[in-house]
Amino acid sequence: MSKILKVRARQVFDSRGNPTIEAEVFIKNKSASAICPSGASTGSYEAYEKRDKNNNRYLGKSVLTAINLINTKISKNLKGYSIHDQERIDTLMINLDGTRQKTKLGANSILAVSMAVKKLSASQKKLPLYKTFFVKKNFKLPYPLMNIINGGVHANNGLRIQEFMIRPDKAKNFSDAMRICFVVIKNLDKIIRNNGLSTSVGDEGGFAPMINSNKQALDLIVLAIRRSGFINGKDVSICLDVAANELFKGNKYSIHSKNFISTENSIKEYNKLIKKYKIKSIEDPFAENDWVSWSKFMKHTNKIQIIGDDLYVTNLERLKKGFLNLSSNAILIKLNQIGTVSETLDVIKFAQTIGFNTVISHRSGDSEDTFIADLAVGTNSSQIKSGSLARSERVAKYNQLIRIEEELGKKAIMNKIR
Ligand code: PGA
Ligand code: ZN
Repeated sequence: MSKILKVRARQVFDSRGNPTIEAEVFIKNKSASAICPSGASTGSYEAYEKRDKNNNRYLGKSVLTAINLINTKISKNLKGYSIHDQERIDTLMINLDGTRQKTKLGANSILAVSMAVKKLSASQKKLPLYKTFFVKKNFKLPYPLMNIINGGVHANNGLRIQEFMIRPDKAKNFSDAMRICFVVIKNLDKIIRNNGLSTSVGDEGGFAPMINSNKQALDLIVLAIRRSGFINGKDVSICLDVAANELFKGNKYSIHSKNFISTENSIKEYNKLIKKYKIKSIEDPFAENDWVSWSKFMKHTNKIQIIGDDLYVTNLERLKKGFLNLSSNAILIKLNQIGTVSETLDVIKFAQTIGFNTVISHRSGDSEDTFIADLAVGTNSSQIKSGSLARSERVAKYNQLIRIEEELGKKAIMNKIR
């Protein structure tokens, strides 16, 4: 009954309009499908995303070779396996590929299948997806890290920092967290309009006004928080994703302005921002190979959450190195950075064992698939990053969390941020 009959894949489109993979796994009388997301500010240690670079019909962006591999090689090899054997299936695909970064089959092929297997297993067991990860009771809802101003490679406004986010720290429950973010975003909308700026949005749904100073963006957010009747740094905290890989050249950083400055001076500037704007969390403050700067930052800025995204790329080996180097105290989790559900769960478990916060994340190219909402609840992850309250592929994850909260009823409590 639970044995895989076949796997089929099709080319669908992501939120940026680029081709991506939807895989569908079939057992008798049932199937489930999943869509792979795609990043723009990718770390160089991420698992490989297979695209048909030489196919001009889709300007080099199609995923038809990867789809063909799912329909032939992966489908043939997975036939007969039980959908409840997630680890065996993931290991089999890892071995079928046989490369370090999954370059043969593509992490996008492998992940789409891996997620679809997980969903089908949950559906076959008649369980909601969030109940099929490692948390079995006392489910907690994550705090949303809502990206409300977009910059960097996710917008074309010239803002150096990629993501300006808010986190509703005093929310009583998830619905309340959503209400708080909603009110701040609507006030920010008004403020941006009143400044004669555009309220068009970037890839992750946050506003992308034509401003090019980090401080100007932060001032707008502080004002929106205040106009909403909340206290910055208490009710609502400002969080950043710098994506510093994109701002690194010759051992210097151009995070705080167009000028490139040393790590020491960048840290000084960070600390001024943290103090003035009461910033509570910074992701990727330095580049992916610059371990020394990360440790220095942790030493001088140890009271806030410091998240490794491109630094770790959801990879256990890199996380272990970061742990030994005291590089950060939190990790961003993106399934397609590593390429299977099982490896992602291993990284989350290890991160939590060493006391790191785990933050489940979407990609800038995402889809209507809400897998990560369930993953956040099912893995006791304290936060989720899924963009703003705009663009349905972003909102879909938050809506799924509202459904989960409703299903849990009185038992639904918010997670803790260390
Ligand atoms: P990406 O951006 O999906 O373009 O990598 C998200 C992030 O950097 O967190
Ligand atoms: Zn990031």
